[in-house]
Amino acid sequence: MDTRVVNKGQLPELLDKLAQDYTLFAPVCEDETVTLFKQVSGAQEITLDYTNSDVSPKGCFFPQTEKTLTYTNTGDKLEINNVCEEEKTVVFGIRPCDIKSILALDPVFHGKFVDEYYTNKRENTTIIGLSCQKVASTCFCTAFNSGPCDGSGSDLMFTELGDKYFVEVNTEKGRVLVDAYSQFFGTQDTDQLAKAKAEHEKKLSGQFVRKVDLDGVKEVLDNNFELPYWEKVFEKCLGCGICTFVCPTCHCFDIFDLTNGLFTGERYRCWDSCMFPDFTLMAGGHNPRPTQKERVRNRFMHKLKYHMDRYNLDGCVGCGRCIAKCPVNIDITAIIKDLKEVGQNG
Ligand code: SF4
Ligand code: SF4
Repeated sequence: MDTRVVNKGQLPELLDKLAQDYTLFAPVCEDETVTLFKQVSGAQEITLDYTNSDVSPKGCFFPQTEKTLTYTNTGDKLEINNVCEEEKTVVFGIRPCDIKSILALDPVFHGKFVDEYYTNKRENTTIIGLSCQKVASTCFCTAFNSGPCDGSGSDLMFTELGDKYFVEVNTEKGRVLVDAYSQFFGTQDTDQLAKAKAEHEKKLSGQFVRKVDLDGVKEVLDNNFELPYWEKVFEKCLGCGICTFVCPTCHCFDIFDLTNGLFTGERYRCWDSCMFPDFTLMAGGHNPRPTQKERVRNRFMHKLKYHMDRYNLDGCVGCGRCIAKCPVNIDITAIIKDLKEVGQNG
């Protein structure tokens, strides 16, 4: 593998240059409380002081609100203009769990059905991952064969080691970027830094407080759709939908039209949540998930079974955001543990 080194002191200049040449998304701390990925105009807006962002970077590819078309109706003719911009983009600072979540979204938006809005962004984006510096109490990415320094799915993977960043060049897209900004990417001490990265990874692997074992959990869900256990779980749920909005792999959306007077309008798609009662409400009034029990069950079935059934990929990446943000402490790792016990006790 091709590896490089960037001096820490030169990172702001590199990011400034990337912001000039690309649409650059990077982690930003808003109101001194919430870290999220936003388009930035330079390094001074970026924060690197975060364990993982509060809001996942999925919005760089699948925005929370996205205009998809505009229309004009002249009476005789309906004119539709597709809004699908092609912008060369770099996303800097994505953690390994979130890179893995993008791989989980790929077959949803670019599989049997091709969503041009997502695909366009995905193809035009270079992903620069950033290894973790510490492990949060809610993290459990190792349960899904990943880890805090796993660069799989990134084009370039940066790992901060003292006053340097060790850089792994994982794809052709990554190599193109390195060549274009070669003044920032040195080749000195890379063997030594590779060893330091392995040490760093080992140190972090000892920081996980959640030991999550998924063995047998999917089999329990495969064989028990009507599990009485869900009666116990759903009672606490407020149906607020926070867990789905912060989740990097949740991808449901709604579409609505905003009219500007009688003859023109815009079409938008917005994130939606399976935790809301009207998510599955049909026009005739029937709702196949009539209570919060069916909605909660659906969410965990999606994370631990359906995504695997459909795409042979994990529907959860162990980022821990739903655990950290749920106002009533519904914890997917506790549910995994309980489901294992159900399997063991029959
Ligand atoms: S289900 Fe929870 S832990 Fe899993 S990816 Fe979604 S937010 Fe992260
Ligand atoms: S965040 Fe918690 S309370 Fe809100 S919908 Fe999700 S599980 Fe229910």
